[in-house]
Amino acid sequence: MNNPAAALKTLDQALAQLLGYAAPLAGQDTVSTFEADRRVLAADLRSELQVPPLDNSAMDGYAVRCADVPAAGTVLPVAQRIAAGDVGTALAAGTAARIFTGAPLPAGADAVVMQEDCDALEDGRVRIRVQPAPGLAVRRAGEDVARGAVVLARGTRLTPAALGMAASIGVAELPVARRPRVALFSTGDELVMPGEVPPARMRPGAIYNSNRFFLRALLQRLGCEVSDLGIVPDRLDATREALRAAARGHDLILTSGGVSVGEEDHVKPAVEALGRLELWQIAIKPGKPFAYGAIAGDGASCHFIGLPGNPVSSLVTFVVLVRPFLLKLQGATALAPAAVRLPAAFDWKRADRRREFLRARRNADGALELFPNQGSGVLTSVAWGDGLVDTPAGQPIARGDSVRFLPFEDLWG
Ligand code: AMP
Ligand code: MG
Repeated sequence: MNNPAAALKTLDQALAQLLGYAAPLAGQDTVSTFEADRRVLAADLRSELQVPPLDNSAMDGYAVRCADVPAAGTVLPVAQRIAAGDVGTALAAGTAARIFTGAPLPAGADAVVMQEDCDALEDGRVRIRVQPAPGLAVRRAGEDVARGAVVLARGTRLTPAALGMAASIGVAELPVARRPRVALFSTGDELVMPGEVPPARMRPGAIYNSNRFFLRALLQRLGCEVSDLGIVPDRLDATREALRAAARGHDLILTSGGVSVGEEDHVKPAVEALGRLELWQIAIKPGKPFAYGAIAGDGASCHFIGLPGNPVSSLVTFVVLVRPFLLKLQGATALAPAAVRLPAAFDWKRADRRREFLRARRNADGALELFPNQGSGVLTSVAWGDGLVDTPAGQPIARGDSVRFLPFEDLWG
């Protein structure tokens, strides 16, 4: 069947449809805050205390009452010493307290003068060489977190900073969405696993299975529990059997290859035989032969996504379509990838009728250079590149144009 690009779903239409199927998974895990990086928070995290708990010193220095330092050069007796972890006593009028970073401010003090602006005298007094204003070098109680505040909202994908935040309010375990269980298959009789046959002994026509490696890594970074079920032969019965068996016990079956229109492409008919195909072929380049469906397992229904076999197509469709799908399954609220606008350091005259994702990288001037070979089988383009230029359908690009760029570091997980 000849499917003109104009008749295909746009990426936005396909993504909206796909996300419509991605109902958040039931169930959650409680994990150590140490182990929660990249997981999705399943409940609002509220603070039971204020942070910092008390007014405290931002510096090593001397806590004073500003009224006691009417001019630079004032000399005061040092009446106490307060280290971090200690609590001092109220500051007597006309005295200073030696204080260290993080130590609570004694009652009555209203400023800290850093030690670089003071001279400790031999008789135990201190000369304050500046005139402080109230609040100088003081960290206010609650200035970071108010008691009762939601510090992290449900649906937040946890980052290293978020883990620190949770710890700062005393939380050692976090409720997170359970990991999606994903069955991963590669299809293709030409595929050989690296390590099985050395390069010098590869039979003619064979290629190494590269998709399996980046897809597994991408799935793991997205918090999935991956069952890597290997390579399925290019036969309808084998493909059907593999999909049928995997539908049980998984939330998603992800395949690469075999989803195009050739006689050796058995994934589509296999899905149609076992369930239903909801989406097939999208107006994007690379990556047109993308498929979504549902497969009836024993009782339950399992999502199915078929990625194109060409490695770059497989990778691009994963990051623009599967990534938000998997985040939504985990209840994440931010699904769209981070994008920036940058100037093109290239001309792109071959605008396609499909929206195109070009492999590019930022040069020293912050402009984008294009990898010369944009072929959908050329993995070098993604290994060399540091992101994708999102090119609207039918729109050429001239050097200096501002274009939408999706950095890989924001797409890789
Ligand atoms: P297909 O979609 O099965 O027609 O495959 C399209 C192209 O991608 C063919 O050149 C395949 O050899 C190649 N291909 C398919 N699967 C993989 C894989 N797992 N690793 C590397 N190349 C692949
Ligand atoms: Mg194939």
